[in-house]
Amino acid sequence: MSDSMILVNTLEELWQALSLLERPLGLVPTMGYLHEGHLSLVRRARQECVSVAVSIFVNPTQFGPNEDLSRYPRDLERDLHLLEAAGADLVWIPSNEVMYPPGFQTWVTVETLTLPLEGAMRPGHFRGVTTVVSKLFNAVRPEKAYFGQKDAQQAAVIRQMTRDLSYPIEIVVCPTVREADGLAMSSRNTYLSPEERQAATVLFRALSAAETAYRAGERNAETLRHIMRTTIESEPLARLQYVSCADYDTLQELETVSGKALLSMAVFIGATRLIDNCVLG
Ligand code: AMP
Repeated sequence: MSDSMILVNTLEELWQALSLLERPLGLVPTMGYLHEGHLSLVRRARQECVSVAVSIFVNPTQFGPNEDLSRYPRDLERDLHLLEAAGADLVWIPSNEVMYPPGFQTWVTVETLTLPLEGAMRPGHFRGVTTVVSKLFNAVRPEKAYFGQKDAQQAAVIRQMTRDLSYPIEIVVCPTVREADGLAMSSRNTYLSPEERQAATVLFRALSAAETAYRAGERNAETLRHIMRTTIESEPLARLQYVSCADYDTLQELETVSGKALLSMAVFIGATRLIDNCVLG
């Protein structure tokens, strides 16, 4: 652990800085505009590793043409203060040119696991995610990398990629950090108007209602999806994109919940697309 946080942009600066850090090294990939969810990953890395690196990169290739890349929130100065306080040793802020040099043409794709859920709604999203995370892994070569359960399919896809490509990296998935009223923390929550912010609690309410039914013995997956759907539909500012009750490992929709399952959803609150999930069993 170093006394003061090192800030780097280019690959050469990164490699130079990495040579000064003691191992094991934990990496926390982010797109910035940090909140307690991100910081919980940094703190977990701080507990488990000798050194902690954080990347901040709003990765253009994981955004669709009609998504929010151009208005994605940014506040680098605030992020750096928060990371220093959370005990990060190294912050890497690559430019688009560093990550995608002219003529870039090599992609990493995970096949089956990226087909349902977010992959079905956001074509090309996971190709962008796996490519950039692969590049982050190659550049930083951490012993451990930290991801949030908030993005459940992303965590599953990264785990699959890590196994398939033989990265010697342990993937650590950390619990979703929520606001006091249950809303999962997200950089995108900043898009919400005060009324929308109120309405956005409907995602957590829908997951909680289905979880309560599950705990009371409900194992019919369609019934659990129906509970989530009707809860979302009761909120006038919410527009449901999908609800899912899927096998935890394969992410395929279930008829009956027997083992571990993932309840998940994507909901538009006004123009803002939010996702949330919880694990059963
Ligand atoms: P992002 O900056 O949105 O790409 O997120 C960077 C990392 O933080 C990802 O691994 C996310 O899953 C994780 N993350 C985002 N929000 C939360 C949250 N509310 N709780 C826990 N982890 C989160």
